Amino acid sequence: MFDTLSDRLTGVFDRLRGRGALNEQDVREAMREVRVALLEADVALPVARDFIAAVTEKAVGQNVLRSVTPGQQVVKIVNDELVAMLGGEGAAPLNLDVRPPAVIMMVGLQGSGKTTTTAKLGKLIKEKHGKKALMASLDVNRPAAQEQLAVLGEQVSVATLPIVQGQQPVDIARRALESAKLQAVDVLLLDTAGRLHVDEALMAEMKAVAAVATPAEVLLVVDSLTGQDAVNVAQSFSDEVPLTGVVLTRMDGDARGGAALSMRAVTGKPIKFAGTGEKLDAIEAFSPDRVAGRILGMGDVVSLVEKAAESIKEEEAEALAKRMMAGKFDMNDLRTQLRQMQNMGGLGMLAGMLPGMKKAKQAMAQSGMDDKVLVHMDAIIGSMTPKERARPELMNAKRKKRVAAGSGTEVQDVNKLLKMHQEMGRAMKQIRKMGGLKGLGQLFA
Ligand code: GDP
Repeated sequence: MFDTLSDRLTGVFDRLRGRGALNEQDVREAMREVRVALLEADVALPVARDFIAAVTEKAVGQNVLRSVTPGQQVVKIVNDELVAMLGGEGAAPLNLDVRPPAVIMMVGLQGSGKTTTTAKLGKLIKEKHGKKALMASLDVNRPAAQEQLAVLGEQVSVATLPIVQGQQPVDIARRALESAKLQAVDVLLLDTAGRLHVDEALMAEMKAVAAVATPAEVLLVVDSLTGQDAVNVAQSFSDEVPLTGVVLTRMDGDARGGAALSMRAVTGKPIKFAGTGEKLDAIEAFSPDRVAGRILGMGDVVSLVEKAAESIKEEEAEALAKRMMAGKFDMNDLRTQLRQMQNMGGLGMLAGMLPGMKKAKQAMAQSGMDDKVLVHMDAIIGSMTPKERARPELMNAKRKKRVAAGSGTEVQDVNKLLKMHQEMGRAMKQIRKMGGLKGLGQLFA
């Protein structure tokens, strides 16, 4: 996500930060580079221009340049402006606080990821909000569109409205509403038809459906990879239907970020969610402050901690925390953690989220290290005896050789793992000193 843009900006800011003193000229030069980076990322020109003007004014105008850490302060100003450009702090929540069923109408062009996103949201609403959901496809144009939603519904265990061949969109919407009321459904998701382009017939259909369904949310699904086109599509839709928010899909493959960065400023609509993959749990609430942090290479510790909390079973986490607090952390615990890392999407996933990890990831790629390493480490621990796992300090040369042979690795791999375990033990002591998880942020800062 945002890799190209992020690399460019981190380069500019590393140079700024590295200097003790800055003058106005330095700031203006850096801002010129930032402007080019934004335009190359396909950010709308007026948005880039306003952004640079705001940052330059703040950075040059105040006492920033005379401060002890001018570079840091400029980066802080950039961060704050970026957050504002993305829509202000925190994620824009779904409005489900209406008399049930709360209707979410999904609109967008064909191929934008609308049906997939409908199923992802259905799953999220059921699992995270704990609400009863029903999904209905109103797409009678594309062959098998309704069947596609039924199949996805089964995969995420969310009910879909039975298909009645030949029924028209507005009638399907009416039937879906009735059915939702009868079944005491909290949230009804309507997946509307797409087209290849924005056209009058499509807009007329959207308006007719909206008039019947009186949606609490009208979410536009757009493909972030289409850059400025995504923003233009949003503008066209928002002129015709009362959009309440945008879902940007394929953010996983978006190295540039132009759509994400311009959407709010151009359309005035908040990005509420980001699609981050083809799997049906690959959706995230879009949080401007976190996204800005990711773009500026400052990492995204909050997302990471949340991700960890999700993939770690509660009892497991509690047991682990207790042992950590007691200063005990043996090979069994390390193994549990390695498996959790695998569940979280491996090293690649972690790399984008932790500050400084980008460089580590490059180094790892150069030395041929990848997610297989996690599997190897697991195998090494598997070849240790229970006694060795509980007391890794027992590992002498002879034992290391046996374990390496047993796990199909080299002694040096065993050494690396033991070293990592020691280092993690030390890091945990530090976290404990800083007051548990709250201190985690400081450790990474
Ligand atoms: P629709 O025509 O708008 O309903 O589009 P679909 O929901 O059928 O999606 C089209 C394709 O995009 C499918 O292959 C999806 O798996 C894929 N897709 C949807 N959202 C994402 C996403 O966030 N990331 C990635 N990588 N693929 C996605």
